Amino acid sequence: MGDRWHVEVDRGVCIGSGMCVNHAPGAFRLDSARQSRPIEGDVDAGEAVLAAAEGCPVEAISLALADSGEVVFPPEE
Ligand code: SF4
Repeated sequence: MGDRWHVEVDRGVCIGSGMCVNHAPGAFRLDSARQSRPIEGDVDAGEAVLAAAEGCPVEAISLALADSGEVVFPPEE
């Protein structure tokens, strides 16, 4: 089985651009306040979710390995 990622959106930072929903509609949705939330806490690792995190204009999305908690995105400096 492939990796699972734990997804978080920092709602204090999200500006509701909707880009993550465009990249990965299976993983993110905009709520009634036009802020993104993960549809599920953990998702299958994949390009679409990574593209969503990378494409967020305010870096509100973080990804970590679900089992170990190791940070996947943003990359550590
Ligand atoms: S791409 Fe970033 S700012 Fe835009 S809705 Fe998603 S989390 Fe929010």
